[in-house]
Amino acid sequence: TSFGFSTVGEGEKQGLVNDVFHKVAERYDIMNDLMSGGLHRVWKDAMVSVLAPPKTPASEWTLLDVAGGTGDVATKVVRRSNESVKAVVCDINNSMLNVGQDRATKAGLSELVRFSQGNAEDLPFPDKSFDAYTIAFGIRNVPDIPKALREAHRVLKRGGRFLCLEFSEVDVPMLDKVYDAFSFNAIPAMGKMVTGDGEPYRYLVESIRKFPHQEQFARMIREAGFERVTYRNYSGGIAALHTGWKY
Ligand code: SAM
Repeated sequence: TSFGFSTVGEGEKQGLVNDVFHKVAERYDIMNDLMSGGLHRVWKDAMVSVLAPPKTPASEWTLLDVAGGTGDVATKVVRRSNESVKAVVCDINNSMLNVGQDRATKAGLSELVRFSQGNAEDLPFPDKSFDAYTIAFGIRNVPDIPKALREAHRVLKRGGRFLCLEFSEVDVPMLDKVYDAFSFNAIPAMGKMVTGDGEPYRYLVESIRKFPHQEQFARMIREAGFERVTYRNYSGGIAALHTGWKY
C-alpha cells in the first residue's frame, strides 16, 4: 500500500483478527478508551439513542449485537430500555465473550444479556429471530462483508432495524491529516505499550483505510435488501452510523 507496510490476504485476515482479540480481550476496553480518547463511549451512546429500544415492549423484544465482543453495546441497550429488552451478543472470539459474560454476571444482567459464539458471515440463528441488529467496530474485520450484511437481513424480523457503527472517512480538512498521523503512529505505539506488540494494531489501522467510504457502504447495505438506508457522521467522520430497515 501507499502506507509502507504489507497488506494481508483475505484468507489470513480472519486469523490475524482473531489473534489480536485473543491477546487483548482482558485489556480491550482500556485500549478502546486510550485509542479513541473515550470517544467510542460517546459514539456508542449515540447509536443506542438512535435505536431507542422500547421501555415497555408489547411483546418480547430482542437485540442481536454481532461482533459484540465484551458486550458493551448490548449492555447499554438493555440498560437504556430499563431492563425490559433482551440482547444476544454474538462474536467469533471466545476470549472476548468470556470477559463479557463475567462482566454481565457481575452487573446482574446475565438473564438479559446472553453470549453466543458465532461468525457474522454465518450466524447460528434462524431466519426472522431479532427485532434489531447492531454491529459496532466489527464489520470492518469480517472478510466477506456483503455476506455478513445478507445474514443481518436474514435474521431480522420484518420491521427490524439494522445499525452499524464503524470507523469511516474523515471529511474535515486538517482533521484528516491529524487523524492519519495519530492512527499510523500513536495507535501501534499504544498497542505495543499495552499488549507488547504493535504489529496487529498496524493491521487494524490499515483495515480502517481499506473500508468503503460512507456512500459506498450505504450502497452495500441496500444491496443486501435493506430499505431507508441512511448514515450520519460522528466526530467529523472518524466514525459513521449506518442504519436501515428490513421490510
Ligand atoms: N462491538 C464491540 C465494541 O464496540 O466494543 C467489539 C468490537 S471489536 C473492535 C471487534 C470484534 O469483532 C472482536 O470482538 C472480534 O472478535 C469480532 N469479530 C471479528 N471477526 C468476526 C466475525 N467474522 N464474526 C463475528 N465477530 C467477529
